[in-house]
Amino acid sequence: MPATPMTPDPSLTEAERARILAKAALFAPPPATLPDGRRDLVGLSREDLAAEMAAIGEKPFRAKQLWHWIYHQGVTDFARMSSIAKPLQARLAERFVVGRPEVAAVQTSADETRKWLFRFRDGQQVETVYIPDPEEDRGAVCISTQVGCTLSCRFCHTGTQRLVRNLSAAEIVGQFMAARDAYGEWPSPKDERPRLLSTIVVMGMGEPLYNYENVARALRIVMDHEGIGLSRRRITLSTSGVVPMMDRCGRELGVNLAVSLHAVTDELRDEIVPLNRKYPIAELLAACRRYPGASNARRITFEYVMLRGVNDSEAEARELVRLIRGIPAKVNLIPFNPWPGSPYRTSTPEAVRRFAEIVNEAGYASPIRRPRGRDILAACGQLRTESERGRRKPAAA
Ligand code: SAH
Ligand code: SF4
Repeated sequence: MPATPMTPDPSLTEAERARILAKAALFAPPPATLPDGRRDLVGLSREDLAAEMAAIGEKPFRAKQLWHWIYHQGVTDFARMSSIAKPLQARLAERFVVGRPEVAAVQTSADETRKWLFRFRDGQQVETVYIPDPEEDRGAVCISTQVGCTLSCRFCHTGTQRLVRNLSAAEIVGQFMAARDAYGEWPSPKDERPRLLSTIVVMGMGEPLYNYENVARALRIVMDHEGIGLSRRRITLSTSGVVPMMDRCGRELGVNLAVSLHAVTDELRDEIVPLNRKYPIAELLAACRRYPGASNARRITFEYVMLRGVNDSEAEARELVRLIRGIPAKVNLIPFNPWPGSPYRTSTPEAVRRFAEIVNEAGYASPIRRPRGRDILAACGQLRTESERGRRKPAAA
């Protein structure tokens, strides 16, 4: 069975559906087949994997076996899949690969944050970051969902790179798998040591809810308990506020939601998060109020980038609290991370402290996100790759 096509939410109008489908086609990832005709098995759903096995005359249990080797053991070489007989290993290797993005570059920050530049088969590249938690023995992998971004938030480096294309499910889950390769975390560590790479934040390059189908397919693979097995509580998806897709994300995936709010008036948000012109603050907050599973145990995270003299006054802190009243939430304050040519400055520590205090006194946790990996441009909003749409040289004849 071929992978399902992009299917917009049935509640959308015809015109909206048509627009989404046209856009999806324009920015579609490359096919999962290599130039030599072999197909990448990574990124297929369980059903699609079973269909691939059926197509070569194998029983459904083969798909289960392969799933285990690919997503539990992290094995990429069919010859190492010891529960599969040698002749079948060879047949599989003729037709399929278990792919990984290529590591084009890797940098490790003084604070241990690690950033990879991953290159995909068509030459496009994204960045992925591992952020160790200094208080715990583990950390989060921040993954990208698009090459570039259609949105152009004023403070975001990715926003200066126009959208080249969406990532496929394989490319999204592949970033996490390649990060696990690098830390030797396949399968689970044999000793009692907990896994370092135990959390995923979908907060890298791109707007995940503008590539929902591929993101959903990737996250379903990540959450499958016979494979990577991360629970939905260990996954946080950040959106700049694509309201119609937030409902679907909650209903179908139920992962933690982070919302990039950054301003308390439509006037300012229109300017710094231009998507606000389409989905203004009131609509965005209404979608947060109805997000399934939002409770005190599973709070929505509001992200608020602190821009000096732009959105960091005490009055704005009070207005923020008023706006989100009644939503089980925490407010993550992110001191602005500068990038070359960025038009803002970071709020003063005193302004950040006062803002946090006001939010906190109103009963909302207001952690200040410590900038991580700034020295290697790996902090929030600093990711950007050089690849530009249409820039690639044609392949040699
Ligand atoms: N597109 C999604 C997820 C990627 S951005 C979104 O916008 O939510 C992840 C987070 O980094 C967002 O909250 C974003 O607003 C924030 N961010 C972007 N640029 C930043 C910068 N220069 N400094 C600090 N945070 C930034
Ligand atoms: Fe895109 Fe998010 Fe950056 Fe805005 S903040 S430009 S939505 S990646």
